[in-house]
Amino acid sequence: MIAVGVLGASGRMGATVCEAVAADSTLELVAAVDTHNAGQVCADITVVDDREALVKASTEVVVDFTVANAARENLPWVAQQGMHAVVGTTGFSEADLVYLQEVYEAAGRVCVVAPNFAISAVLMMRFAEIAAPYFDTAEMVEFHHDAKIDAPSGTARLCVEKMAAASRQWAPDPTTNEILPGVRGGSGAADIRVHAVRMRGMVAHHEVILGAEGQTLTIRQDSMDRSSFMPGVLAAIKAAPSHSGLIVGLEGVLNL
Ligand code: NAP
Repeated sequence: MIAVGVLGASGRMGATVCEAVAADSTLELVAAVDTHNAGQVCADITVVDDREALVKASTEVVVDFTVANAARENLPWVAQQGMHAVVGTTGFSEADLVYLQEVYEAAGRVCVVAPNFAISAVLMMRFAEIAAPYFDTAEMVEFHHDAKIDAPSGTARLCVEKMAAASRQWAPDPTTNEILPGVRGGSGAADIRVHAVRMRGMVAHHEVILGAEGQTLTIRQDSMDRSSFMPGVLAAIKAAPSHSGLIVGLEGVLNL
C-alpha cells in the first residue's frame, strides 16, 4: 500500500483525487490538506489546513492540485521531507521546473508534473507531434470552465512546444492589421497561435488544427468530467516510488 496525501483536497480536482485514491485497494489516503474548508470530510478523512499533517501521517506520495503560487512553496518542502510528488497544478514557468528538477534530484525523490492526466490529452499531444512535420500552419484552441485562473492551459503550452520541436517548417503569420488587439491569440513556441476560451458548462477540451495546401487535420480531445483525469493520476502515484528527479508529462510514466 502506498500512503497518499492530497494538497488542495477540498478543491474540484483534489476532492475527486481523494475519492479515487480511497477507492483503490493498492493505495491508502492518509492526509487531506487544503487552505479552504478545514474540517470538511473527504473520503472519510478530515481536511486540515496544516501541511505538517502529511509528515505526521507518513505520506509517501503527495498529490498537488492547488495553484502555482502555493505549489511553488509547497513542492520543495515535500521533497525536503522525503516525499514524492504528483502534480496536476498548472501555471509553472521554465525556471520553476528547473528548480524542481534540482530539488527532487538532490532529495532522491520524484516530482511528476503533468499538465493533463487524461490519456486522450496525452495521445492528442503525441498525434500532433507526429503530424507537425507534414503541415506548415498550426493553431491550438483550448476550452475550459469559467473558474480556471491561468491561461493558456499547461496542456496547450506543452502541445505547442512539442509541435514546434517536431518541425521547423512553419509559415509566418500573415496578419499585418490586427483590428481587435489579441484577436490572433497568444504566440506559443515557434509562434504557433494559442486561443483560450473560458466557458461555463465546460471542463477541459483541446483542439489542434494543422493546415497544408488543400487540406487540414483537426485533433481534438474532451474531458467531460474530472473522473477522466483519475486513471492517469493513479498511474503516476503508483509509478512515483521507482523514479527520481523531475518527470514532465504523464507520458514519462506511461512510456508512450
Ligand atoms: P480549485 O477547485 O480552485 O482547487 C484548488 C484548491 O487548492 C482550493 O481549495 C484552494 O483553496 C487550495 N489551495 C490553495 N493553496 C493551497 C495551499 N497552499 N495548500 C493547500 N491547498 C491550497 O481548482 P481545481 O479546478 O481543482 O484545479 C486545481 C489545479 O489543477 C489548477 O492549477 C488546474 O489548472 C489544475 N488542473 C490540472 C489538471 C490535470 O490533468 N493536470 C486537470 C484539471 C485541473 P483556496 O480556495 O483557499 O485557494
